[in-house]
Amino acid sequence: MSRIRGSGNKNTELRLISFFKAAQITGWRRGSRAIGRPDFVFPQKRIAVFVDGCYWHGCPRHSARRNQTEYWKDKIAKNRQRDRRVTRALREQGWRVLRVWEHELAKKDWARLCKKVHQVLG
Ligand SMILES: [Zn+2]
Repeated sequence: MSRIRGSGNKNTELRLISFFKAAQITGWRRGSRAIGRPDFVFPQKRIAVFVDGCYWHGCPRHSARRNQTEYWKDKIAKNRQRDRRVTRALREQGWRVLRVWEHELAKKDWARLCKKVHQVLG
């Protein structure tokens, strides 16, 4: 289950890359070693991007609907805590942090995603 690892997963990362290409957004890199291992960074602008899977990161729109055992509820709560810690730690080091939900990667929502990304990228 590759979904457990990291913030997003290969599939969501590839979808964000397709989006970047379609939106002609350049300057991003993968495989950053910054705190929390962001999925993408814009090193010039010091922006860290995480793609958060709806289930594992407790998206308010999708995660709550599924049947969850206590074990998973606890695990997801811990993921969310870690996400907040990572975001805070990066901000303290002068990064701006952009978190994209898995569900925001749907092609039909790319216009909205584009606005969100440009709000941070400038
Ligand atoms: Zn979601």
